[in-house]
Amino acid sequence: MSQRIGIIGAGISGLSAAQRLIAAGHAVDLFDKGRGPGGRMSTRRERINDTAYLFDHGAQYFTVRDPRFVSQVEHWVQHGLAARWPDAGPDAFVGTPMMCSPLAHLCERFGVRFGTRITAITGAPSAWYLRAENETFGPYAQVIVAIPSEQAADLLTPWAVDFAQTARAHPSQPCWTTMVSFSEDPPDLAPVMRIPGPVLAWVANNAAKPGRAKTSAWVLQATPDWTAAYIDLSREDAAAPMFAAWQALVSHPLPQPVLLKAHLWRYARTGEGVDSLLYNKALGLGLCGDWLKGPRVEAAWLSGLELAEALLAA
Ligand SMILES: Cc1cc2nc3c(=O)[nH]c(=O)nc-3n(C[C@H](O)[C@H](O)[C@H](O)COP(=O)(O)OP(=O)(O)OC[C@H]3O[C@@H](n4cnc5c(N)ncnc54)[C@H](O)[C@@H]3O)c2cc1C
Repeated sequence: MSQRIGIIGAGISGLSAAQRLIAAGHAVDLFDKGRGPGGRMSTRRERINDTAYLFDHGAQYFTVRDPRFVSQVEHWVQHGLAARWPDAGPDAFVGTPMMCSPLAHLCERFGVRFGTRITAITGAPSAWYLRAENETFGPYAQVIVAIPSEQAADLLTPWAVDFAQTARAHPSQPCWTTMVSFSEDPPDLAPVMRIPGPVLAWVANNAAKPGRAKTSAWVLQATPDWTAAYIDLSREDAAAPMFAAWQALVSHPLPQPVLLKAHLWRYARTGEGVDSLLYNKALGLGLCGDWLKGPRVEAAWLSGLELAEALLAA
């Protein structure tokens, strides 16, 4: 029998769950507080004068190992939504032409309601309501919470205290990310640098990814420790020391950037996971996301799929 299911969070885990449930004949409503698709796989657009600069400022690439994800990504590749990025490793892929592209495609198909932050789950089992700032949605036979653990804990507290406790016990690490563009890229810079810290962990040339415009777009990611130590910096104050740390790693002087902007991912990378998913059949409440399976795009997608399978089996 077809059920009406509400999903909070349209990152890759929520979309993966939605895709499986819709394929099984259920009616799914998806809500996301963000203005556009992607969650932590989103792509940031910055404009200076007439030039648009695009940065995959969250996930940099994804691995494709599990046979279920292999067939999903093969489908994306066939439709021009993903491609290999050998610079990052032999099994590394990216969304094309932007990291968020495969998710944007799914969001459009499923009619995600963006700009809608769910602030409470109300009602009762089999007739749940999702409360947003000015509106309430429902009733839903089942609700899926597909958001970072810290944010999930608050929503779950009145209904599933055990799930909320588990979520609180699995916090994520933050990540300062700085986006840099030059009027012309300096020569001889590696497309990818993996760095052991202490400030930076990763530097990558977004324009070196497949399917991108050649507009200069570099992404610098700080280590979790450095980010935690400087989490209270303003965005302006975080960008400068990260750029200086990059300069210290390269042999020639970097030009003056035309764009230098930092973004704080407060809940960036999770630990190695809990149990793939959490589902309470009696309540009709389920949780998925990377924090349940591992700090990777692939794990988040699998967590969503496995939660949907658990719902269908129930
Ligand atoms: C800087 C950074 C670098 C990374 N690098 C890599 C990498 O190279 N490779 C890799 O595999 N992984 C990487 N990751 C991890 C990867 O991005 C995540 O594991 C994955 O995207 C998580 O997907 P998700 O669906 O679980 O969560 P999210 O993508 O966070 O999706 C959750 C969604 O829920 C929404 N939301 C939250 N609260 C609410 C609410 N109350 N109401 C409505 N909507 C809400 C959010 O807006 C968001 O869109 C990186 C992450 C970051 C931040």
